[in-house]
Amino acid sequence: MSIESRSTGKSGSNAASFERAQRVIPGGVNSPVRAFRAVGGTPRFIARAQGAYMWDVEGQRYIDYIGSWGPMILGHGHPAVLEAVQKAATQGFSFGAPTDAEVELAEAIIAQVPSVQQVRLVSSGTEAAMSALRLARGATGRARIIKFEGCYHGHADALLVKAGSGLATFGFPTSAGVPPEVVQHTLVLEYNNVAQLEEAFATHGPQIACAMIEPIAGNMNFVRASVPFMTRLRELCTQHGAMLVFDEVMTGFRVALGGAQSVYAKLIPGFVPDMSVFGKVIGGGMPLAAFGGSRDVMGQLAPLGPVYQAGTLSGNPVATACGLATLREISRPGFFDALAARTRSLTEGLAAAGSDAGVPLTTDSEGGMFGFFFADHLPQNYPAVLATDKERFNRFFHAMLDRGVYLAPALYEAGFVSAAHTADDIAATVEAARSALRS
Ligand SMILES: *Cc1c(COP(=O)(O)O)cnc(C)c1O
Repeated sequence: MSIESRSTGKSGSNAASFERAQRVIPGGVNSPVRAFRAVGGTPRFIARAQGAYMWDVEGQRYIDYIGSWGPMILGHGHPAVLEAVQKAATQGFSFGAPTDAEVELAEAIIAQVPSVQQVRLVSSGTEAAMSALRLARGATGRARIIKFEGCYHGHADALLVKAGSGLATFGFPTSAGVPPEVVQHTLVLEYNNVAQLEEAFATHGPQIACAMIEPIAGNMNFVRASVPFMTRLRELCTQHGAMLVFDEVMTGFRVALGGAQSVYAKLIPGFVPDMSVFGKVIGGGMPLAAFGGSRDVMGQLAPLGPVYQAGTLSGNPVATACGLATLREISRPGFFDALAARTRSLTEGLAAAGSDAGVPLTTDSEGGMFGFFFADHLPQNYPAVLATDKERFNRFFHAMLDRGVYLAPALYEAGFVSAAHTADDIAATVEAARSALRS
């Protein structure tokens, strides 16, 4: 192999990288959505990133609205975060023994999320959601769980379930390799459907360990749980002794410092979930996630209690330093107001571009997370998301990519704005959208 073909500079090509990758990695990617299957075309192989931008191996620059699917809330290569990571790396990569930095990160999370008194750190959102589920089952002594169609909680077997026909039935596996027995306790309900919720609790209430939900669902683009739905979900969980588990892997420290639960607490007096799951932003781009709840519930975990959970790299010092430095920056006064305003300027710009082009385009955002749909109204559940114009989305995605704007390569994903996105970046994005919608 020649020296040139190994370089990752401008001499590379996305097509060549993809072809080489497909020989040794299934589909050429380490997480399926990266393969561009939904939108077609060649995935961009990223060489580097700085601030709001990423450059691919061909030297093409993109304004980045994925931000590693949420973690890069400060943009890429924030100096304070970089310094913290470099310092931690020189002090040791991993010890398999406790450190003060883990305690500091736990304290930083708890300080912003009143429903959480204790947290355990893990390495991925999947691991955190899977562990929270085990803990909910262990703490309640019950087996059944409720999840909502269109919500993603990582790829633990019990959570890889799609709705059965007619819904409000026990689901069947979404993935090969998951035996039906493994998901027989998972009840899949339609998002924002109060009647189904009532029915499910009326029928199975005493067996339900927990209901897990993405409060603002970012894995079906951007769909908010309605206030009546969330209110009723909280009431029914409490009435039936089931735990309400908020999967805030995406929304935590992203839609607000206190996560989506702080948004709902403003709308529903006294609202708190029983357990919360975090990831993405709390690692600042490093593999780090967490789950937490009351001291009582968390005390059921080993070594204090009977629910086993462990991890060689849990609380990894380099990841922890990255997360801590990120949380420190986003906790500064005014950070979220500025981020939310910038994000709104993007969604308002996109909506205006749509209406000027005579294309139905609706948008929504909270904090630094946004969604847009080629539809007249914001969808309220997964079937409604599926009914939006996918062909138009795919054409728009590629037209934007050609214009140097990197949106999520699937209609089912939320978008993310970082503190590094300037007013000029937003204006350039809206201009690109106008041109893309014309074409
Ligand atoms: C990303 C995500 C997960 C899974 O996290 P990984 O770190 O990819 O395992 C779980 N839940 C939600 C809501 C997510 O967005």
